[in-house]
Amino acid sequence: MTLHHEQFDTIIIGGGQAGPGLASNLDARGEKVAVFQESAFGGTCLNDGCRPTKALRASGHAAHAARTAGRLGVHVDGVTVNVAEAVERKDELIGGWRQSGSEYYENHDTISYVTARARLAGKDGDVYRVEFGDRIVTARRVVLNPGARSVPPPIDGLDQIDALDHHTLLDLKEAPPRLLVIGGSYIGLELGQIWSRFGSRVTILQSGEHVMPREDPDIAAAAARFLEDEGIEIRTGARVVRAERSGDGVTLTMDDGERIDGDRVLIAAGRVPNSEDLGLDTVGVETDARGYITTDEHFLTTAPDIYALGDVNGRGAFTHTSYQDHEILADHLAGGERSASGRIPTYAVFTDPPLGRVGMTLAEARAAGITVSVADYEMASVTRAALDGITPGMVRLVVDAERDRLVGAAVLGLHGDEVIHSLSMLMHLDGPALALGTWLAIHPTVAEFLPTIYATAEPDSASDDA
Ligand SMILES: Cc1cc2nc3c(=O)[nH]c(=O)nc-3n(C[C@H](O)[C@H](O)[C@H](O)COP(=O)(O)OP(=O)(O)OC[C@H]3O[C@@H](n4cnc5c(N)ncnc54)[C@H](O)[C@@H]3O)c2cc1C
Repeated sequence: MTLHHEQFDTIIIGGGQAGPGLASNLDARGEKVAVFQESAFGGTCLNDGCRPTKALRASGHAAHAARTAGRLGVHVDGVTVNVAEAVERKDELIGGWRQSGSEYYENHDTISYVTARARLAGKDGDVYRVEFGDRIVTARRVVLNPGARSVPPPIDGLDQIDALDHHTLLDLKEAPPRLLVIGGSYIGLELGQIWSRFGSRVTILQSGEHVMPREDPDIAAAAARFLEDEGIEIRTGARVVRAERSGDGVTLTMDDGERIDGDRVLIAAGRVPNSEDLGLDTVGVETDARGYITTDEHFLTTAPDIYALGDVNGRGAFTHTSYQDHEILADHLAGGERSASGRIPTYAVFTDPPLGRVGMTLAEARAAGITVSVADYEMASVTRAALDGITPGMVRLVVDAERDRLVGAAVLGLHGDEVIHSLSMLMHLDGPALALGTWLAIHPTVAEFLPTIYATAEPDSASDDA
């Protein structure tokens, strides 16, 4: 810990995906800056989120590619996954990034980077008091970047069965023979597929009507199909009410009385913002009913000079949104024009193949009263997908027909996480949807089909009834 001062211009509480970058930016402008990060450098994304899961996804992908290579005339016998080795590779990658990041900030000449939990403790005149341990430091501006955390759902006995979460699962050295996943949204699907490829027999229990509840049902169904084709069992409408140990394993009971046995249970049933122990009430920072800190389009909270970035402000739940929050705030503090208003939601679900998403779903566009044209296209008809032999999925373009603007898209299938960027760039530039029909794309790629897909767009009859 290096505390260069007692009084700062800016104190950042929580070193998530926004805090360190903002600290560097403000430091470069001559501010006295402190960052308080209670745990390992890099927050959720680096330690227990995006990066470790995608490192393990690469191992799962390689196993699946080898097992299914026969369709390409390539025969690989006896594919096994050494989970301990995959985890070791993941740890080496993550450890390297964590070490270089923490060494940089911990040894910084001017930024005070402190490994400690901190909280607001009222105001002294026009400066905020921040406490950590038994010490108090002050700043005229405070930035909150404390992230979010997974929460177990209210299931009787869940605390008695040594359930896994996205922290503990990532360190298993062997795949449990039967893995029960509670939650069929993005994290449950990504992790369920990886461990299925590692050798677990995976059952995903989703209480709602379909997996990925925020997506259009037919897109979610297409994803569920390819997961099921790989041998993953998906049960929808499966509300777990009780968990208990049975022998060396576990038994989960559904609300209709059905029981299902497994060896381990993974909880992937939602996340809540880390806002309850930040001393917000001592300075007048308000949250909404779910605990997300209320902010304006420059991330200013309800207290002057206190800002909230990342998952905790409810304006995104991704590394890229948190990172962009810091860029927007840095620009705003320097007198720039950037703001979060009008930011177009975009993300990927890293199933394999992935789902790339931007803007509205079809259901959202209908509900917004937009006169929609919609193009749906099977990935199996895309030349590159056929060439690579990876044909599951579909592409959807949702167009505001009156304004000639793309308002949303889903690319589920090969390279969906990359292809979506050309569509998101078009929306970012507010370009005409017609451009999709006239641009020149490279053959043979998935993106080259966007003009063809756009040409199939038809008026959506359901949008008239919305
Ligand atoms: C399994 C999983 C996979 C994911 N995959 C992706 C993905 O592929 N792509 C993507 O974009 N997003 C992904 N996410 C989401 C992504 O990790 C988060 O959106 C991102 O980390 C947001 O970060 P943040 O800046 O809000 O804070 P975080 O990264 O959560 O970091 C906040 C840090 O602040 C610390 N902290 C909290 N309170 C205090 C305090 N009072 N004092 C000091 N420190 C404090 C916390 O311990 C934490 O380390 C994934 C998440 C999970 C769980």
